[in-house]
Amino acid sequence: MSKDKSEGKELKKELLSKKNNAVLSMKSEEIKKCDKFCEGYKKFLDNAKTEREAVEETIKMIEAQGFVEYKIGMKLEAGDKIYRNNRGKAIIMAVIGSEDISKGVRLCAAHIDSPRLDLKQNPLYESNELALFKTHYYGGIKKYQWTTIPLALHGVIIKADGSKISIKIGEDEDDPVFCVNDLLPHLATEQMKRTLAQGVKGEELNILIGSRPFKEDDLSEAVKLNIMSILNEKYGIIEDDFISAELEAVPAFKARDIGFDRSMVGSYGHDDRVCAYTALMATIKCKNPKHTAVTILTDKEETGSDGNTGLQSAYLKYFIADIAAEFGCEGRTVLSNSECMSADVNAAFDPTFPDVMEKNNCAYINHGVVVTKYTGARGKSGTSDASAEYVGKIRKLLDKHDVIWQTGELGKVDFGGGGTVAAYIANLNVDTIDVGVPVLSMHAPFETVSKIDVYMTYKAFLSFVS
Ligand code: MN
Ligand code: MN
Repeated sequence: MSKDKSEGKELKKELLSKKNNAVLSMKSEEIKKCDKFCEGYKKFLDNAKTEREAVEETIKMIEAQGFVEYKIGMKLEAGDKIYRNNRGKAIIMAVIGSEDISKGVRLCAAHIDSPRLDLKQNPLYESNELALFKTHYYGGIKKYQWTTIPLALHGVIIKADGSKISIKIGEDEDDPVFCVNDLLPHLATEQMKRTLAQGVKGEELNILIGSRPFKEDDLSEAVKLNIMSILNEKYGIIEDDFISAELEAVPAFKARDIGFDRSMVGSYGHDDRVCAYTALMATIKCKNPKHTAVTILTDKEETGSDGNTGLQSAYLKYFIADIAAEFGCEGRTVLSNSECMSADVNAAFDPTFPDVMEKNNCAYINHGVVVTKYTGARGKSGTSDASAEYVGKIRKLLDKHDVIWQTGELGKVDFGGGGTVAAYIANLNVDTIDVGVPVLSMHAPFETVSKIDVYMTYKAFLSFVS
């Protein structure tokens, strides 16, 4: 009967969950806003390929908005905008709120380190008249993806006298680039029998940097010498200076629109600059918040968050304690009443590899910011698992501000998994939830995100801190 049919439709609308492509419910002006927002994001991606550059770029952007470097003892009042630079590799920003700080802060967290190839301490060598750099990969990579692509070299070298040289080569059109070579298929019969994990091994990720010898008869390692002589001329360094350096080889290509519809952005390092940029922009946009808004862009997430610039270190706790002290309050009181959106990318459903995803609980491109109750692997190990109450609160907040969002678990149970910094923040007794942007080809040299999802993540942060 037709009446029953329409009753069913009504009931379905009322009771069943709707999972829709965001484009279908968005006005075209709003979609244009997403596209425009991503123009700024692409510039950030190109200017900030390493954690150090992300900190520099962030400071440039926030100082232009009136943020000042925080010094202990500084008098703070509502509306003040401050930041603390942690060793040039991580940064915390705060906009002081009108509410008593003992009521807690609104914390946004993202990481600014990305998978890459780091140079070893003694990187330079010559082999059969070619000069190369030895590397140790940083973060979880599929090694074969890092061969035969143009690489740029970014980082710093501390010379014997303590002076610092900044390096960025391979980004300008006129710069040379570098690359890891791979075996030609004609001679790869044995290599092709290796597993994909072993296809290119860690010690085979050697970066080609030169081939012409220094012109002088009977000179050993003349190609290496020639390279060193070029580096000495350009940067005033000697071989031993590599020992106290941090040089990172990253893909040399720039962020580009993907698709005939230009709906997506392809780039190196979306993980996790996509959440860093959106959190940063929300922090800049947030004026006179009720609760103090604190945004942390951290280092070392990709290697487990250890070290003094990673979120397992006490630097966040110390910062909160320092600003709490200005208001005569304990850091632990502030933290215990705080709430956090811990932002990191999530895996987007890829129709080419559907088997690793559980379709009811994975994230989709263009379905908005992903809200993830728990991460972890093998029985939720290594996650903070946000409480139902806190998830409920965030859900209500996002709906109130018309943020398009979805839920997403990182793949099928026991297919792998992964953690984020959320657990380390939650360990400080902060209500913490994972949010983020779904990404295709995560950890590859060229990752893909949707412009709508990027913008919705920004909107989620803004609703949270405002
Ligand atoms: Mn990440
Ligand atoms: Mn990652």
